Amino acid sequence: METLRFQVVGEAFKKKPLEVKTPVDRPAKYFGRKVFNREKMYKYLPKEVYEKMMDVMDNGARLDRKVADAVAEGMKQWATEEGVTHYTHWFQPLTEGTAEKHDSFIEHDGKGGMVEEFTGKLLVQQEPDASSFPSGGIRSTFEARGYSAWDPTSPVFIIDDTLCIPTVFISYSGEALDYKAPLLRALHAVNVAATEVCHYFDPSVRKVTSNLGWEQEYFLVDEGLYAARPDLLLTGRTLMGHDSAKNQQMDDHYFGAIPERVAAFMRELEIVALELGIPCKTRHNEVAPNQFELAPVYEDTNLAVDHNMLLMSVMKRVARKHGFRVLLHEKPFAGINGSGKHNNWSLSTDNGVLLHAPGKTPEQNLRFATFIVETLMGVYKHNGLLKASIMSATNAHRLGANEAPPAIISSFLGKQLSELLDHIEKADKDDLFTMDGKQGMKMDIPEIPELFIDNTDRNRTSPFAFTGNRFEFRAVGSEANCASAMIALNSAVAEALVSFKKRVDARIVEIEKDFEGSGHSPVFHAIIDTLREDIRTCKPIRFDGNGYSDEWVAEAEKRGLDVENSCPKIFERYLDPESIEMFESLGVMTRKELEARNEVKWETYTKKVQIEARVLGDLSMNHIIPVATRYQSALVKNVDSVSMVFSPEKAGKLNARNLKLIEEIAERISTIETGVDELVNARKVANKITSEHEKAIAYHDQIEPKLDEIRYQIDKLELIVDDSLWPLPKYRELLFIR
Ligand code: ADP
Ligand code: MG
Repeated sequence: METLRFQVVGEAFKKKPLEVKTPVDRPAKYFGRKVFNREKMYKYLPKEVYEKMMDVMDNGARLDRKVADAVAEGMKQWATEEGVTHYTHWFQPLTEGTAEKHDSFIEHDGKGGMVEEFTGKLLVQQEPDASSFPSGGIRSTFEARGYSAWDPTSPVFIIDDTLCIPTVFISYSGEALDYKAPLLRALHAVNVAATEVCHYFDPSVRKVTSNLGWEQEYFLVDEGLYAARPDLLLTGRTLMGHDSAKNQQMDDHYFGAIPERVAAFMRELEIVALELGIPCKTRHNEVAPNQFELAPVYEDTNLAVDHNMLLMSVMKRVARKHGFRVLLHEKPFAGINGSGKHNNWSLSTDNGVLLHAPGKTPEQNLRFATFIVETLMGVYKHNGLLKASIMSATNAHRLGANEAPPAIISSFLGKQLSELLDHIEKADKDDLFTMDGKQGMKMDIPEIPELFIDNTDRNRTSPFAFTGNRFEFRAVGSEANCASAMIALNSAVAEALVSFKKRVDARIVEIEKDFEGSGHSPVFHAIIDTLREDIRTCKPIRFDGNGYSDEWVAEAEKRGLDVENSCPKIFERYLDPESIEMFESLGVMTRKELEARNEVKWETYTKKVQIEARVLGDLSMNHIIPVATRYQSALVKNVDSVSMVFSPEKAGKLNARNLKLIEEIAERISTIETGVDELVNARKVANKITSEHEKAIAYHDQIEPKLDEIRYQIDKLELIVDDSLWPLPKYRELLFIR
């Protein structure tokens, strides 16, 4: 009889791609069709209301109740024309996904009938029962109320019959229970700090925006095969599975031809995403078999984060329609690359200047150097925190695994930029700057030609690499909410800019006298002096070498960078005095919020490892050991038969191999059994620990390593047990879509 495995593998290999109806329109026509964007606001809102909304969205103006009512009315009209019947506040609790609770528009009309209603009050605020979301103890259950409040800077959108309203999620005492609230505060902080620094160069700058362009990596697996792998289903990764003889050694998947079934999925995903206003641009095969990537054009960080969350959920739905499951886990398969989500990040001004891009004039290049150096200052000072911001139980499997960035944060600048910083640092004051020209001085900063970063000057091992006009934070996990990394990064840079401004201003006062009567301004001098000091300070974060090498770990430690690699311990960085001081002084998060969030992080870590341990225990006992025993019995029977047929001497020879296998299977089974017992006992001990922090450490130190030991034995059994008995789809079947 065919095993389940052979049935599902057979089905998977027979599948044909779905027909995707190509839309008649060009993408520009259906882009944003499901979004209440500016164009629709213009159409559906009275003129004064539209203008007020623009002021709210562009300048953070306050929104009053009357305007909110008018906006809600316009939204409802548009939404009902689109067949919408429900609305929901859409928010990002401290779980991995998003949350929504749908309400319909209907209300009693007082005459026994129904009317459809949607008011400013419903748009602006809701009170979802929040007691089941992680809060790290901020909300005790008797004060279960949290509320969600509209974020008018991220436009509402339609999914099926529901109007989705992006919101923040806050406890009644005002603490953030989500990612969006602190993100908005961090973006505000970096805007204020960067705008002030911009004023040294251009007093007309009114606003600085943080930009994010993420690149989402993911795996696809056939739905049938997925369903036959309880580990994938319950933990998002394979807890066992021997390497496929062929995986990525031939480097033939990266940028290769996209399989037809996958291409059909991608086409449909892009149509749906574009309709939702997600500006998808790039799609390609990634390094590992069955691994792919999607990247949109960069956007304002808040919107980009929402779009990434939305995309991850849309992807899952579209994939199922095509008979796939999307794996967003950072390391679904051992032995091949895992998935990340590079966060391309930069700052830009409201008058169109990319602050991380080199300019044409010396003055523009001084501004460029300022933003580069102060970014490095933030990353240097908070390198441990930045690592904490991207760390998770799942991403821990990827970091440092010789493919993704190592678990040490450093920055690659490339040759030209490194030379520029070295030049500023070392050059003598007088040979650098001669007093001349209308700005008060001529700067001898070497001209940087516009496209000076050539693509060969790239370092794939760096977790935070400069790539021409932005930094690419590569350590972010594929499954993560980018907000976590963006909160830490934007805060760190905001703090560095605040400190920079303070020191430059003080320096100006110091040197002012020397400039008296000269008709020249001391500002650029003060900037250069401060930059020179900072270039020296943050030097340890600059590293252009191979981030995977062992020497780097030793070297990084010598430089004082954070080299911790235990996930629960890395989370401790959030509670370092420098971190608390930074978040509190910028108004991003309070100590209480940080403490509560860490409780959630540690608890989540423990639960993830706990679930994996249970699943592995069950699979070992119910799937693997019975099958291995069955094969072993067959071998025993064969030995008996051989002994009956042949002379003892001959039988001894002929049975040698089987006897060895029988013994090996027995030994491996027994090691697995002991391992599972030890795993259960270690959990019992760990579960008694009351501190979430200590418990997570126990799970990391005591339980996690045992999973690997058991897996090792199972993977060896997979190699010797009869293929027709093996119950779980193997890597070679999971990883190659036909
Ligand atoms: P890669 O070569 O790393 O794959 P891509 O050209 O595909 O880079 O771009 C990756 C992402 O970086 C895209 O989302 C792109 O829009 C974004 N990006 C480009 N320039 C910037 C910038 N200045 N700031 C932020 N993101 C940017
Ligand atoms: Mg990239």
